[in-house]
Amino acid sequence: MSRYYKSSKLSDVCYDIRGPVLQRANELEEEGYRILKLNIGNPAPFGFNAPDEIIQDVIHMLPESEGYSDSKGLYSARKAVMQECQKVGIPGVEVNDIYLGNGCSELITMATQALLNIGDEVLIPAPDYPLWTAVVSLSGAKPVHYLCDEDNDWQPSLEDIRSKITDKTRAIVIINPNNPTGAVYSREMLIELVTIAEEFGLVVFADEIYSKILYDDAVHIPLGSLNQNVLCLTFNGLSKAYRLAGFRSGWMIVSGAKDQAEDYIEGLNMLSSMRLCANVPAQHAIQTALGGYQSINELILPGGRLLEQRDLAWKMLNDIPGVSCTKPAGALYMFPRLDPEVYPVANDEQLVLDLLNQEKILLVQGSGFNWPTPDHVRIVFLPNKLDLADAIERFANFLKGYRRK
Ligand code: PLP
Repeated sequence: MSRYYKSSKLSDVCYDIRGPVLQRANELEEEGYRILKLNIGNPAPFGFNAPDEIIQDVIHMLPESEGYSDSKGLYSARKAVMQECQKVGIPGVEVNDIYLGNGCSELITMATQALLNIGDEVLIPAPDYPLWTAVVSLSGAKPVHYLCDEDNDWQPSLEDIRSKITDKTRAIVIINPNNPTGAVYSREMLIELVTIAEEFGLVVFADEIYSKILYDDAVHIPLGSLNQNVLCLTFNGLSKAYRLAGFRSGWMIVSGAKDQAEDYIEGLNMLSSMRLCANVPAQHAIQTALGGYQSINELILPGGRLLEQRDLAWKMLNDIPGVSCTKPAGALYMFPRLDPEVYPVANDEQLVLDLLNQEKILLVQGSGFNWPTPDHVRIVFLPNKLDLADAIERFANFLKGYRRK
């Protein structure tokens, strides 16, 4: 009989990217099966190594990384982030407006915990990167999902956003480029979004961790560059573009209406102090990463490995009868739709579990991204072209068994 129970604060919290299906994958691996994991945006295990220059600098600085740093982070690293703000056009940012964290996940948790009270509401995209829904639930506030429109390249539905604002809405989360859809939002769309935030006094949480992973002619416009009357918290880090997810190194930038946010900023400082500081060796990676040569460009420009893998995966998925997929303009993911007329899926977790058991391929079900209907899955296109083609072929074969009889 159990004596120990988890806190009721966790009863609405869920994070399916590393959920029950992954546990089954681990069991199968223990039984000796090779599982092709297309479930997590973790570039390094797929041969996307970090630039050597960054690794060498961190090694060089290790002997000086023994102590805690300032709670917000090393001055040199925060200065590098500040200069990045100047480069991309986020005005008025000082070193003290920047917080370094153990990945931006930690800072996302801090930013929501410091702002939200029980009963508050936060607008979050559907589909979303599910950490946002999880941390808002954990804070006692209510995640309210606004729809992104698949028929409009997964752009947010402004109508849906407006219809869901109440006097309890405190903030809006915007993930651009988006995980899981790969959508990159236009300047016009982003201006509409910050205009709504200004009208209703919402804090903008801008998750821009994929800002440098863009394909074709996609352009990333930082939300913090658009409207200085809105308080904007921007999240970014080394995990994706610099392939350093294991270093757990990210940053948060507070910009815009800071003069109206003294109390909230005090809360952020308090939480930042309580966790003492972010991992110091990994903070040393930031200055080298942001300065100078941006190696990510080699992967996303014509001939680049990521671009080629995106093109291959997108074509192969769309060739499967009853499957359609919007071409991602950024990030590392595809979010294909399985036409319910062709594939009558009642439970999308069961679908990915069946795929795992049968074909030893691990995907994440769309409902894991708070998508309301069981008709999508997310695929990570990080594996090399051979593995990717093999996985999608096996997915296509598997789907034959799921077709309406
Ligand atoms: N935000 C988005 C949209 C992500 O996809 C991820 C990781 O996949 C994160 C945040 C977390 O990043 P970090 O490794 O910096 O904690």
